Amino acid sequence: MSEFLTARERIIQALLSSSAPLDVYQIREAAGLDLKPSEIYGELEHVAKTLKRRGMRLVVVPAKCRSCGYEFRDRERLKKPSRCPRCKSERIDPPKFYITSS
Ligand SMILES: [Zn+2]
Repeated sequence: MSEFLTARERIIQALLSSSAPLDVYQIREAAGLDLKPSEIYGELEHVAKTLKRRGMRLVVVPAKCRSCGYEFRDRERLKKPSRCPRCKSERIDPPKFYITSS
């Protein structure tokens, strides 16, 4: 992958070339980025806007509680929640991301 691509473009390329949704750790790996998870979530918010302008869409697979299965839908922010509102567990599977055309 080209070194000249911005982090944002690398994330887009990583998501487009993956056959399955990726979480931020997988995105970091696939895109070869030296960023903290919180920074990747920040980049993803920009990625979503960039994709929109290109007629594509960043789809979020909601984070899910591993203990009770609660799904964190309708979240404004992309970030992983820290604890489950239903059972108070902190074992949360992070959200995953993929790209669709429009
Ligand atoms: Zn729960």
